Amino acid sequence: MKSALTAGLERLALALPAERVEALLAFSAAVLEKNKVMNLTAITDPAQAAELHLLDSLTLLKVLPLTGKSLLDVGTGAGFPGVPLKLAEPSLRLTLLDSLQKRMRWLEEEALPALGVEARFLTGRAEDFARDNREKFDVVTSRAVARLDLLCELCLPFVHRGGYFLAMKGAQAQEELHEAANAIRLLGGSYERTEEFEIGGAVHSVIVIHKTGKTPEQYPRSWARMKQKPL
Ligand code: SAM
Repeated sequence: MKSALTAGLERLALALPAERVEALLAFSAAVLEKNKVMNLTAITDPAQAAELHLLDSLTLLKVLPLTGKSLLDVGTGAGFPGVPLKLAEPSLRLTLLDSLQKRMRWLEEEALPALGVEARFLTGRAEDFARDNREKFDVVTSRAVARLDLLCELCLPFVHRGGYFLAMKGAQAQEELHEAANAIRLLGGSYERTEEFEIGGAVHSVIVIHKTGKTPEQYPRSWARMKQKPL
């Protein structure tokens, strides 16, 4: 697992101090251990976890400079991509958001304290937190949560003007982007670029959306409304 991670870091040309690599591996091991009793991930092989969870999360460090930034990870699940980013870049001010209480309690009470990592935890639905945390973050990230048009409505309200939303996507990235063009514009975003990385033999895409305007107050709508009538 260590060799899979170090080889991947070399491939991405990401140089991390040894203690940060150790912390990343310790977090991945903790996820796989907890996964035996709590549903956290479909991946059970440590080398695959190093590639598909750790390295995939760390690609965001190649997309934007994150030093000292406030970052919100929407639908973080077992902590991806937010926790690996914080372990690799400790100056990051990390907030994790997910509606699943069990996963969030494990991150808040066990996994992160064991690593000495500080973060803020928002347990609940993104659309409910948006009111009090509007336009508060430099960067918002999200992986494997919803299709891009819906995801933009969940995530862009949290980004302040001048900040970025980074959506981690797979092979369908361009199709989703096409579908989300109207939502991005209506929500005050502006599509900047897509960056591609080869992770675990497949192309993973990061869609970079710049927040150039203000999100109108009526967004986000309820989840039911978003699904019924995507922007
Ligand atoms: N981002 C993690 C990853 O890539 O491993 C977890 C992905 S998991 C498939 C999707 C997560 O998004 C779940 O933990 C779910 O609870 C959360 N989620 C989905 N919709 C949400 C919403 N509207 N607000 C908060 N969390 C949400």
